[in-house]
Amino acid sequence: MKKLLRTLIPSDIAKGLKVTGTHFAKVFGTANRAKRRYHLVSEYPEVKATVFPRFRGRLQMLKDEAGEIKCVCCLACEKICPTQVITIESGKKEGRKTRLPVRYDFEMERCIFCEFCVESCGFDAIILNHQFELATYNREDMVLGMEGQLQNMFGPSPVAKFSVADEED
Ligand code: SF4
Ligand code: SF4
Repeated sequence: MKKLLRTLIPSDIAKGLKVTGTHFAKVFGTANRAKRRYHLVSEYPEVKATVFPRFRGRLQMLKDEAGEIKCVCCLACEKICPTQVITIESGKKEGRKTRLPVRYDFEMERCIFCEFCVESCGFDAIILNHQFELATYNREDMVLGMEGQLQNMFGPSPVAKFSVADEED
């Protein structure tokens, strides 16, 4: 019988099946019990996935504690961007010593998420946030900026509006 089994299932395949079977049994036995060690899946999109701290999502502008735009228009990020997807126009504001952007456009569809822009910014004015739901139905939604319909450089952008979880909120 053993000989027959060995002929039908070669030893390497048997070993593989044993490993697979062991893990399958563990995962199957702990499904839907989030605290168990072998729970490997999350109930996405109802439960948002947690990304690693170094995850590079989409570009986002930051404001300081007083609500002022941190960017001072040094243009370092615009110049270093290898795909040239950042366009900045600088301006002035009464009472503010440094310049500030009156236009900061970001064409996400060509961004390669290299993070060069963030590294080049000496004012901690931009980050690549943890937003990972970046699919859209329209190309226009991939263009982020500061004004009108494009006013989404400071928070979660409309590109995530098609998330099933968000629609149920
Ligand atoms: S992450 Fe890279 S490609 Fe994207 S905007 Fe920044 S520098 Fe440009
Ligand atoms: S590098 Fe920073 S401060 Fe300079 S333009 Fe870009 S975001 Fe603004």
